[in-house]
Amino acid sequence: MDIHEYQAKELLSRYHIHIPRGGLAYSPEQAAYRASEIGGDRWVVKAQIHSGARGKAGGIKLCSSDHEIVAAADAMLGAKLVTHQTGAQGKLVSRLYVEEAMDIEREIYLGFVLDRKSERIMIVASSSGGMEIEEIAEAEPDSIIRATVDPGVGMQDFQAREIAFGLGIDNALIGRATQTLMGCYRAFVDYDAAMLEINPLVVTRRGDLVALDAKMSFDENALFRRPHIAEMRDKSQEDPRETYASDRGLSYVGLDGNIGCIINGAGLAMATMDMIKIAGGEPANFLDIGGGASPDRVAKSFRAVLHDKNVETILVNIFAGINRCDWVAEGVIKALKEVGVPVPLVVRLSGTNMEEGRRILAESGENIIVAETLAEAADKAVAAWRSFTAGKAA
Ligand code: GDP
Ligand code: MN
Repeated sequence: MDIHEYQAKELLSRYHIHIPRGGLAYSPEQAAYRASEIGGDRWVVKAQIHSGARGKAGGIKLCSSDHEIVAAADAMLGAKLVTHQTGAQGKLVSRLYVEEAMDIEREIYLGFVLDRKSERIMIVASSSGGMEIEEIAEAEPDSIIRATVDPGVGMQDFQAREIAFGLGIDNALIGRATQTLMGCYRAFVDYDAAMLEINPLVVTRRGDLVALDAKMSFDENALFRRPHIAEMRDKSQEDPRETYASDRGLSYVGLDGNIGCIINGAGLAMATMDMIKIAGGEPANFLDIGGGASPDRVAKSFRAVLHDKNVETILVNIFAGINRCDWVAEGVIKALKEVGVPVPLVVRLSGTNMEEGRRILAESGENIIVAETLAEAADKAVAAWRSFTAGKAA
């Protein structure tokens, strides 16, 4: 789960990380009022959306008068900001964050991630901040500092100091940098974060170290024990298809194609999506129905897949180990009766109780295209989709 910049900054400030003074605004008037509360003569108006790279997309505006703040806020509020991370549909700006502007001496990149290879929290830092880390990694791979934390002892002060020295931070700021790094680490662990990124972390002309931007995302499996984080969720920033599915306990990722997928197992789901592509189609989603899927859960999955109005064919692919094909078949029939499936349906059942499952489908009298192998299922799904869309066009 992602949160907004202002929320991440608020969390980090509890861990003694310096942030610019700022305030939230929902209207241009409020934005100007925030600036007057903050004081000074230069401010930054920042669109709060769940995406980075807002600067290049017009979502960050440096202002030096009331008039400019009102104009910037007026242009951003209610607009859809398209960054290279949002996709073409963009993200709606409904909150702004107004901050005192900082005089920047240098910009640093700082990230904390869970590194799957070492199974540890990894700190990634670079003295060339401000840009996307991917670009830095490509242009100057040697400039990137990486360190992992031993989970037995946690992050140590010496590690933080080593990173700070590696970044070429002035002696006078080493203490501040160490506090910042240790604070990030504690916040990461205390809140069950999956990612924490400060880009840029800036050295100001006044000689302070300030988080100018902040991004955090959290492990959804831990949200039950982090109610304060859970309530920061902003569903308006999420793909509505994914919100619908996750609210119902389904593991779903929305994609851009037209063939809806209901599959058991993440690996089989990936393989099926590949097979659909090889057959000439495009998957509309990833959906792992999980082991032991009851007829209710199958019907629920149909609802989630059909929630996406671009779906023009559904492919159910079950390789049943823990699952039972007869249960899945009952779920399919239940969905056809209760949900109504207005598009072609291809079903492939294999594994535990598959004869029983196939019999249930055959005897249902419903219009179901059956397949025995994965390749056959993908071919039939793409063929069904082609004739369905041809029929719609005619
Ligand atoms: P992002 O584009 O979504 O990553 O948004 P950021 O908050 O990182 O802002 C993008 C860029 O705007 C930063 O890298 C800075 O160069 C610039 N910027 C943001 N805030 C300030 C500020 O207070 N003063 C100055 N001079 N530049 C700023
Ligand atoms: Mn940034």
